Amino acid sequence: MKNASLPDTEGSLSVFEQTCSYCGARFRVLATPVADGLHREEYACPECGKGYRTEAASEPQVQLLRRRTDGKDEAYQDTMF
Ligand SMILES: [Zn+2]
Repeated sequence: MKNASLPDTEGSLSVFEQTCSYCGARFRVLATPVADGLHREEYACPECGKGYRTEAASEPQVQLLRRRTDGKDEAYQDTMF
């Protein structure tokens, strides 16, 4: 049996759930925490592609929990001001 002193990879992830403010989809974000909290990575809503940012060491994984609730299938588009 190997020495189990290494931390479990999954256990070290920062996991949170989020509802997309654009389409209403619910999804889970799995991010690798950063020690200094200064590094940010982008991730996108799996339904409409709206971009979000969080503190993470690398690009977070996203798991869709509930389909979008706005009844559309258009992609999010940044509005240019
Ligand atoms: Zn969305």
